[in-house]
Amino acid sequence: MKIIDGKLVSSYYKENLKTLISSKGINVTLAVILVGNNPASKIYVSNKTKECREVGIETKDFYLPSDTPENELLNLIKELNNDNEVDAILVQLPLPKHMDEFKVLSTISPSKDVDGFHPENIGKLAVGKPFIEPCTPKGIIRLLDYYEIGIEGKRAVVIGRSNIVGKPISLMLLHRNATVTICHSKTQNIENITKEADILIVAVGKPNFVKRNMIKENAVIIDVGINRLEINNEYKVVGDVDFEDVKEICSYITPVPGGVGPMTRAMLLENAYQLAMHRKKMCK
Ligand code: NAP
Repeated sequence: MKIIDGKLVSSYYKENLKTLISSKGINVTLAVILVGNNPASKIYVSNKTKECREVGIETKDFYLPSDTPENELLNLIKELNNDNEVDAILVQLPLPKHMDEFKVLSTISPSKDVDGFHPENIGKLAVGKPFIEPCTPKGIIRLLDYYEIGIEGKRAVVIGRSNIVGKPISLMLLHRNATVTICHSKTQNIENITKEADILIVAVGKPNFVKRNMIKENAVIIDVGINRLEINNEYKVVGDVDFEDVKEICSYITPVPGGVGPMTRAMLLENAYQLAMHRKKMCK
């Protein structure tokens, strides 16, 4: 079994990006909006800001209280859409319950949509003409490519159908000529389906959900899950795959942490750069 090292691969892409940004002398600015006090979101935002600085991307951070009226958030997004200094906008999810996530994400200008969640950008992805790709699935494809794991003709099974991971990764694998099956909470006899996967992508949000009896020998396993467990008063992050249980029979596997997570952040940086290049008409 080989470990797919997301830290290593993300460092490779971040170094490339740092060189590109400095050699082109381009200013890239990402606006990050965090609504509320979700501790995990705060950590994500501060890590993103730190990594932006490391590669030469400037950030503008906006921290709004959790009771911010939705309209105020929409107005801030519209201001940033019109702000010439801002190339890319990120609204950290999840949003407080009184906000309509679809409405908020649809308000971000598609040309500044660093996460690729705007319906126009999802539509372009769906028809195979992506303008900007969502970060986690983009990072997964990069991991497979880096390790020269073939996708074409392979049987790929995706567990989870979220708009941010399950659906876009299914489309991207399909565009790379995999035969794709999507499983979800209503799928029956899921292990019969997952056992056929050459490539198994797991984005369920349930710790250790995938066990040995669910996978085929030599399968490639991409574990997207990030689950925080409290064990003896200590927090531990685990994935959706029972790593110890499956490690002897799979051919490749992403660890958690250190697999998909660092790639998601690296792709966010790349997307910000890509949007800046597009806005400044430095690429077609
Ligand atoms: P989500 O919106 O929470 O959706 C979970 C999906 O899993 C749903 O489609 C759900 O089916 C399906 N599901 C739930 N129980 C199931 C079961 N028993 N059998 C089969 N499918 C089941 O998912 P998400 O936002 O994609 O996140 C998934 C995990 O990935 C979370 O742990 C999240 O923290 C993590 N994540 C990690 C990264 C990263 O960079 N590493 C990025 C994003 C998310 P239904 O649709 O039928 O409800």
